[in-house]
Order: sequence, then structure tokens, then C-alpha cells
Amino acid sequence: MRDNRNRIMLVNAPSRREVEAAGNASCFPPLNLASLATAVKNAHSAIKPEIMIADGSIHSTDEIKKKIDGFGPGIVGIGILTPTYREGRAIAQYAHEKGAKVVFGNDHASIFAEQIMENCSYVDYVVKAEEGGAPFSYIVGMENGLPGMPPAQGNGGKRAKVFFRQGKSVASLEFPEKRLVMVPDFGFVPKEDMSRYAENYNKRYRRFHKRERTPGLINNATGCSNGKHPCIYCGIYDLGLNLGPAEHFWKMVANANEKYGMDFFMETYDNFLSSPRYVKALLGAMDRAGINPAESGIEFEVYSRTDDILAQKESVELFKKMNVTRVNFGVDSGDDRILAALGKNMDRHLGMRPSEINYRAIEMVANTGMTFQMSFVLGARGETQESLGNTVEFARAVAKNFPNAMALVEASELAPLPNSPSWKIMHGNAPLETDEPDMQAVVGEWLERFTEVSMGMIDDAKAQIGKIAGERGIARNSFFG
Ligand code: SF4
Repeated sequence: MRDNRNRIMLVNAPSRREVEAAGNASCFPPLNLASLATAVKNAHSAIKPEIMIADGSIHSTDEIKKKIDGFGPGIVGIGILTPTYREGRAIAQYAHEKGAKVVFGNDHASIFAEQIMENCSYVDYVVKAEEGGAPFSYIVGMENGLPGMPPAQGNGGKRAKVFFRQGKSVASLEFPEKRLVMVPDFGFVPKEDMSRYAENYNKRYRRFHKRERTPGLINNATGCSNGKHPCIYCGIYDLGLNLGPAEHFWKMVANANEKYGMDFFMETYDNFLSSPRYVKALLGAMDRAGINPAESGIEFEVYSRTDDILAQKESVELFKKMNVTRVNFGVDSGDDRILAALGKNMDRHLGMRPSEINYRAIEMVANTGMTFQMSFVLGARGETQESLGNTVEFARAVAKNFPNAMALVEASELAPLPNSPSWKIMHGNAPLETDEPDMQAVVGEWLERFTEVSMGMIDDAKAQIGKIAGERGIARNSFFG
């Protein structure tokens, strides 16, 4: 065994685009990497782990390779998503050539675990999990000659897996998928990187706050109330509800605020109002701990479905009490037929058309002094030039009526991500044949078979939405470029 296996580098693979302050991508420190680092530190103090974090949202592939040269890690863990997989592979190959053990994790790894192990000899482990802390710590233990924590036996939940090589074959180990209750240590993120996230955040969003903010990510829950019938583009690996203790949420906030000055937290929970009971528990824990976020100058941003905002009448009041100041909406379309085709499942007898539900939720949030982000997905099943026009008009109406509350508008083409219902519509249950689908070709085929629009029409709609949003808009048309 090499003696540098306690030197661990944790990477989020960059996308192929130029590194830039696009949307939220480069505005928040990488919670996933800080959490993995903390899990390893907590599990393996005996090996005195040295951990470096390199986040692809602010570092290019070349910069990350240079960091590998300088740090000389014995283990490199790389988080890959479908749009970042190509760069992730380049980093993996480089790390392997330098003698490091390579571990892949995150959504793309979870979906393509077997194919990656088959096709990429330079990858030693693949973690298939919604949360990789326990499996990754296990790998670090194994590589350092520790017996490691034995995979805990079934808790009835979805199982996480670690794939690894055994001679010429591939073996796997199962773990129960469970949430690690720990306070992530952002001290692993280089100080100069922390400054860059804050700079990027304030460049984009300073105008929506009374003073500059120090951004932070937080996560105490995952899953979505729509998880049983997800939106057709949703490629999230596991949408089942997995809720952390309410007290723990506030413990993480207090720690990040005191140690790193973070005062604007984005909770990455897929849909914050999925469980009303959980939100009430959060507020109860907040009161019991005597915390008043507004008085302490702490703000939150959450993701929410628009129909949940309307269906849960007290939602906006709860948000205010917690000092949620921004809500992130997947508005998707301004066309009722397309919203139905996307599987937004907004038919909750609210007595409104789906596009009206979207509009009213935005109105409620804006009228109570919060800001919002809204994203559109263009090219759903049955999309036509007319429905694209309705989406552009929806964006225009929102921008005109709530100009001061609109923080960000995103527009992207529907990309049938593996694991999403749209992928299944295209390919049925046919087994995945490659670890790297050509997403540009997949999008082209999708448009051809399931819509009446071309990529050119979608680009045109994106440009129009971009013009309406002005500097508060981004069009993600180079998502897979
Ligand atoms: S896209 Fe959002 S709302 Fe739709 S299923 Fe996924 S997490 Fe839920």
C-alpha cells in the first residue's frame, strides 16, 4: 500500500463551458465535498487524513490537474453529473496516471455505475448513492488498511452500493441508504475559494439584499412530494423523502454562521414544502432554540413547487417566520397543455389552470417582499411554436408585474437525462449500453420524435426570454456543448 492514501482530493467535475459566474453554480461553496471531507475526518482520525477540495464550478480541468500535481493525492473522489462527465473522466485518467486511486460518485455515477466499471479501467470505485459519506469513508478505510466500518445491515431503505475491482471482475458491497447527521466543515474549502463564491454571489445578487452576503449551502432533507410521478425531465437519482432532525438544521446554520460568517443559506432540499410536518418541526426547533433569523440577519433560499405554495395556505407565513427571502420555482412553461405534459401534477383541485397556479405563487411570494428565481424547460412532449410563444409571454408578464422581485430567470432545453421519465419514454427499459450518452444527439432525437419544434426555435425562445430577463437571465443552451 502506498503511504499517501491518507491524502485525499475531492473534486466536483467542471462542465465544458468556460468557468463563469452563471446562475447559482459558482456562487455557493461545495456542500457535497465539504460533507464528504467531514465524514472522512470523523470516521478516520487515526490516519490523520489530509484533504483538499477542488470545485469545478470555479476551477477548470487544467487547474484541477495542477492541483493534483501539487498535492499528490493517494485517493481522488470525483463527483460527476451527466453534463460534467467528460471532464470528470479526463481528471480521473490524469489522477490514475499519477498513481491515485479513483472514486466516482454523484448522480451520473449512480446511474451508470456498472457501465463505468466496465468501460473505464482507470476508475477503481464507483459509489451509487444519494448520499456518499458512509460509502466513501468505507473506501478510504479500506485503502488505508483499516478494517473499515462494516456495511450496516438493512434498515429497509433504498440501498447504496460501492462497486470495486476484484482481480479482473467487478464486485459490489451494499450499504443502507441513510443520512449522516453531521455538521459539514467548510474549513476544508480553501479560503481564497470561499472569497470567490461570495464575490460571485454578490456580483449577481447584491441588489436584492440590504448589505453584502456570505453565501452558504445547507441540506437537511432530500426528496420531493412529486416523487412518485416525477416531472418528465427530472433525473434525480432518489426522490424519496429523507428528512434530517429539525434541531440539526439549526445546528448547521449556527455553526456556519459563527465559523464562516455565512448569512445567506440555500437549502438544497429538492422541494421544501414536500412535508408540511417537517417545516413545522423546523419552526418548532427554531423557537425552542430561541433563534430569530431575521433579527440575526440570516436569510434562506428554498426550492418549492408552486402548487405546494398555494395548497399549503400558511406556506408564505412559515417562510417569513423563518426569514426565507428567496424562493426558487421550476415554472417550466407558460402553456397549460405543456405543463400537463411535463407531469407537473398540479391538478390538486386548486380551481386554477396550471399556468395560473405558477403565476399566483409568484405573486404571493413577490407581494410578501420575497424574491424569486424561475426556470423554464423548453421542448416538452408536444411543444409547438405556439406553446413556446405562450412561455415567452408568461415570462414577459412576470417580468413586467414583479420586476423588483425577479432575481434570476433560467431557460434550457429539455434534456432527457438518464433515469428521467423522458429517457424512459425514448428508450423504454432497454439496458444502458454506454457510460456516456451523446446528449446532444439525445436532445435532437427527442425534439424530432416528440415535439413540433426544432433546436433553432428553442434557441430563439431562449433568446427572447433572455432579453426579457436582461442581466437577471441566463440561457443554458451550451449545457452539453
Ligand atoms: S423536477 Fe423538481 S418538482 Fe419535479 S419531480 Fe424533480 S424535484 Fe420534484
